[in-house]
Amino acid sequence: MGEGTKQDFEAARLTVRLKAITANYRTYCRLTAPTAVAAVVKADAYGMGVAKVAPALADAGCESFFVARLEEGVTLRKLVPKARIFVLDGAHPDSVPALIRYRLTPVLNSLTQIAAWSAASEVSGTALDAVLHVDTGMNRLGLPSDELTILSAEHGKRLAGLNLVLVMSHLACADQPDNKMNADQLSRFRQALAMLPPAPASLAASHGAMLGLEYHFDLVRPGVALYGANPQVREGKASTSPNLMQTAAVLTAKVLQVRRIDSGESVGYAATFHAKRPSMIATIALGYADGIPRALSNKGVAVLKGGRVPIAGRISMDLVTLDVSGLAAAPEIGADVEILGDTITLGEVAELAGTNEYEILTRLRRVPKSYED
Ligand SMILES: *Cc1c(COP(=O)(O)O)cnc(C)c1O
Repeated sequence: MGEGTKQDFEAARLTVRLKAITANYRTYCRLTAPTAVAAVVKADAYGMGVAKVAPALADAGCESFFVARLEEGVTLRKLVPKARIFVLDGAHPDSVPALIRYRLTPVLNSLTQIAAWSAASEVSGTALDAVLHVDTGMNRLGLPSDELTILSAEHGKRLAGLNLVLVMSHLACADQPDNKMNADQLSRFRQALAMLPPAPASLAASHGAMLGLEYHFDLVRPGVALYGANPQVREGKASTSPNLMQTAAVLTAKVLQVRRIDSGESVGYAATFHAKRPSMIATIALGYADGIPRALSNKGVAVLKGGRVPIAGRISMDLVTLDVSGLAAAPEIGADVEILGDTITLGEVAELAGTNEYEILTRLRRVPKSYED
């Protein structure tokens, strides 16, 4: 299974359009110039496959990448030997040797992490690059305000041996442009910058970069938009603004079986779908084990022979059943069905499933991937 495996009958396939991802990257560069653009490739490039995505982005000119985990950074180092790699989890005494060995730059989230990295610099006898993450309201990662106050008073000592290459924070409500928390966090971030030694700054991810110039600072760090999500959509509302991003993920599956059922018959587990008329049901080779949310049961849609068809009944582990009665002719066994792509957008799928684009993309792990340039 997996990338590169050629099978006679590939039941389902995730086609990743590398050109769309690099085009989306360039769109961010254009929209935010002269601000630099780093690519966030955590979680295997949001499920799209970092082994292909990161080198393509590096070829497109991307010089900085963010990952969440240390192991992701170690993997990424081999893929983009020259790039700057930031690790959002930061520095822990146990992670220091690998951070140094693979030339990874930790995003330091606390005074404890700062101390660990500063000590590593002393032990190794070299200055080490570091990023500081200050918490401006997310209350998740980053220096809380009391630690920032201490750091500000003692930065000469506490940052000894460290080159501060970036100070960053993260917005909680960037996908809600009218939320006043955005401006609050912007002002807290400016206050934090004033308390620290001068360094390049970064606040915005995909959605934040669309809030206006004042959110750009020196570096923006989009993730989900590179993979096709609309960064100008308010969470849960699929049609607010046209999407400037190109579709990067196309998920298709083959029809395994087609059958006619009588009016009143049911489909699938727990018999949640009942045919109101004689109907035609097509079963396709995808299920929740592939990452199709079970919440799409009796809610989702697919495209078959150019027509939209509803999901009928529960999503199973390996199968989805579609009511294809509305099609002019019964689909053939082996016909391709689009579940996600140009017609059924990431935003629409996320909205129907009651989740966000991030979760839809990162769950698509069993499906073999193929890459289109
Ligand atoms: C995941 C993440 C990003 C990227 O966010 P998107 O919304 O996918 O653009 C940027 N910064 C931090 C700190 C993150 O955790």
